[in-house]
Amino acid sequence: MRVTVWNEYRHEVTKEHVAKIYPDGIHGLIASFLRKRGFEVKTATLLEPEHGLTDEVLDNTDVLIWWGHCRHKDVRDDIVDKVYERVMRGMGLIVLHSGHYSKIFKRLMGTSCSLKWHISEKERIWTVAPNHPIAKGVDETFVLPEEEMYGERFDIPEPEEVVFMSWFSGGYVFRSGCTFKRGLGKIFYFRPGHEEFASFHNENVQKIIGNACEWACPNKIGGPLSAPCVAPLE
Ligand code: ZN
Repeated sequence: MRVTVWNEYRHEVTKEHVAKIYPDGIHGLIASFLRKRGFEVKTATLLEPEHGLTDEVLDNTDVLIWWGHCRHKDVRDDIVDKVYERVMRGMGLIVLHSGHYSKIFKRLMGTSCSLKWHISEKERIWTVAPNHPIAKGVDETFVLPEEEMYGERFDIPEPEEVVFMSWFSGGYVFRSGCTFKRGLGKIFYFRPGHEEFASFHNENVQKIIGNACEWACPNKIGGPLSAPCVAPLE
């Protein structure tokens, strides 16, 4: 399993309190807990050439994880095209938190992906599809003491499955863990992960992201993108 963790990597560099929570960047922490599961993990960030997503990197990625927030617009369209094509051909994609507004997620969903939000509330996550592979070993319910609130309506197409739901102390609810398929690619959106809070240190959150990688990992990447004219089989 070859995972690439992509992060905009802006807040950790510009805000001291964020750097304290994620001294190696959000991507660095995610990479470290995924390596403990035995995955081969690379990281890539916005300011690297081609945002770190060269053909070589993408050709050697089974599952791509995406965290972005304030610099979605700075992601090059030609890189988004390449990621989109890989997903169509089977690469798994896990979109975290504010990645709901990333170019790649909006393109794959075809909707605005808008939602309600404010800072901050207690979040209680419920596992509503306990037999789903992404929920394996995850508690029925767990609390993130402080998170950014995301509220419905979340403007996404009907998910294939809703695996997790969130309740917030202010009364809002949210479809927090949603699966989709596009082309041959499996996509998982997972809500938590605001940069000012420690959610990626949470054991259940880490388990969910690891499980999602396993679930989204393709048998093989390389479905056809063209429409070949073929001869009859017999
Ligand atoms: Zn946020």
